[in-house]
Amino acid sequence: MEREFMEYDVVIVGAGPAGLAAACRIRQLNEEVSVCVVEKGSEVGAHILSGAVFEPTALNELFPNWKELGAPLHTEVKGDDIYLLQSGEKGQKVPGFFVPKTMHNEGNYIISLGNLCRWLAEQAEALGVEIYPTFAASEVVYHEDGSVKGIATGDAGIAEDGSHKGSYTQGMELHGKYTFFAEGCRGHLGKQLISQFKLDEGKEPQHYGIGIKEIWKIPAEQHQQGLVVHTAGWPLAENGAAGGSFLYHIEDNQVVCGLITDLSYNNPHLSPFDEFQRYKHHPVIKQYLEGGERTSYGARAITKGGIQSQPTMHFPGGLLIGDDAGTLNFAKIKGSHTAMKSGMVAAETVVEALKAERTSDDMVEYEAAYKASWAYKELYAQRNFGPAQHKWGNFIGSAYAFIDINIFNGNLPWTLSDPKPDHAQLTPASEAKQITYPKPDGKLSFDKLSSVFLSNTNHEEDQPIHLKLADASIPLGSNLAMFDEPAQRYCPAGVYEIVVEESGDKRFQINSQNCVHCKTCDIKDPAQNITWVTPEGAGGPNYPNM
Ligand SMILES: Cc1cc2nc3c(=O)[nH]c(=O)nc-3n(C[C@H](O)[C@H](O)[C@H](O)COP(=O)(O)OP(=O)(O)OC[C@H]3O[C@@H](n4cnc5c(N)ncnc54)[C@H](O)[C@@H]3O)c2cc1C
Ligand code: SF4
Repeated sequence: MEREFMEYDVVIVGAGPAGLAAACRIRQLNEEVSVCVVEKGSEVGAHILSGAVFEPTALNELFPNWKELGAPLHTEVKGDDIYLLQSGEKGQKVPGFFVPKTMHNEGNYIISLGNLCRWLAEQAEALGVEIYPTFAASEVVYHEDGSVKGIATGDAGIAEDGSHKGSYTQGMELHGKYTFFAEGCRGHLGKQLISQFKLDEGKEPQHYGIGIKEIWKIPAEQHQQGLVVHTAGWPLAENGAAGGSFLYHIEDNQVVCGLITDLSYNNPHLSPFDEFQRYKHHPVIKQYLEGGERTSYGARAITKGGIQSQPTMHFPGGLLIGDDAGTLNFAKIKGSHTAMKSGMVAAETVVEALKAERTSDDMVEYEAAYKASWAYKELYAQRNFGPAQHKWGNFIGSAYAFIDINIFNGNLPWTLSDPKPDHAQLTPASEAKQITYPKPDGKLSFDKLSSVFLSNTNHEEDQPIHLKLADASIPLGSNLAMFDEPAQRYCPAGVYEIVVEESGDKRFQINSQNCVHCKTCDIKDPAQNITWVTPEGAGGPNYPNM
């Protein structure tokens, strides 16, 4: 049966900072251009998870009067502390002079990126953009000549066994003269497009981290609005892994804290979730959280390969923008401003293409326009930060970054390489150090299930599992023997379990209803056997202010 379709000049997948900035800019430049945005969350912002210390550079360009328009940037950064944690007890504040200048946050704001996206969506709608939350783009639709024609939203009302339920509704196609893919880190359709158009040819593999975050309401006397605290070292360093933590004092006596674990870690016994739980017991962190109440939990992967790993962003009929194309600046641990800028440049490019009455061709000129932007220039200057951290670890890697960025302004005449993909990094479980994590105390640390509860995750129960195994025998057949099936530990929502039946037989169980859409399994599975696909629209977390 042919699907119904609607036609637009530009279709945008994903209402994050990249997609919404692109949508707003298009309509600012030409209000005749029709623009539609689809978003898989139950509302705009429901699936957005970030730190976030926000650099307002792109927003200043997009809406110079954002203060008058009421943008939710309420907390200016007032202090910037960086600690090197040597152990579970000891921590040393790093003198400001030694901190790479990319980690200084004067002029930035501590925000909820979800709330900023909600506000951007209001601005976009006021400019005439059509936004459809609860619509997950599940398929790319192609013209006969192979160029992208648009997307199809998923069917709803399909039972787990594939039969149609009473509520069945067929998905529809949204056709665009051009389609922008702005799905964020490890976009499901972006991944297909990269493979289809070989957009990663000649590039380094993309690298990732998994960020696990909580929001806390803390006693007023422990709160210092505007204080930003970052740490490196313990607990990850103790288990040979890299990454770092953030703790930001936002308004209303709230603190947001999280740990980003580089997904290049080697030890299959490592659990990013448990590392984060024990991190909160460090005296540097505990001093802020003690006596407080955890109100929200979530997780999301982060792209961190930098320009060496950025795929070609243009292809016939569309563009990849934002973290779908890896525009995050890892040296700053910030990607919202660069994602927005990549979307704004995309908007300027498409408006010119439409003015010339072009359609569905390859906007090759986007590459030069993006490379001329400040977003690319800052990524270029800080291109060696991530590979240096991987090559030499947090400590020496940061010393290198200090010299490269603070002293030479990123002008050193070489580009470091990081050629091994994250999924190929695990050592066999039998050769790796066993890790025993402390039991959660229910005050500062918690278990996975009570955590997922706070993410308000909800999926229609009777639907096909959206975590597809290419080969169902791999989890027990090879992953368990070789790596003690690491999915049990890297998934921050307890989706993957090895269940031992009464008979003693083992079964690989996928609790897909708990999935918070972080995409870590799609990235880290050593056999690259798991593919995350879109579940029925609106499924997933419902973050209020992540
Ligand atoms: C733990 C953590 C901390 C961070 N801290 C900071 C920080 O302090 N400062 C900073 O600037 N950046 C930070 N970042 C990075 C920043 O959040 C990202 O760079 C930024 O959100 C990227 O924007 P985006 O629009 O490309 O993608 P996203 O923000 O990921 O938005 C993508 C949107 O597309 C939707 N979507 C995805 N697939 C589909 C589909 N198929 N159909 C329909 N909708 C879809 C998603 O639901 C989502 O709403 C952090 C990230 C993490 C994970
Ligand atoms: S199943 Fe995959 S995408 Fe979902 S929460 Fe677990 S690791 Fe993340």
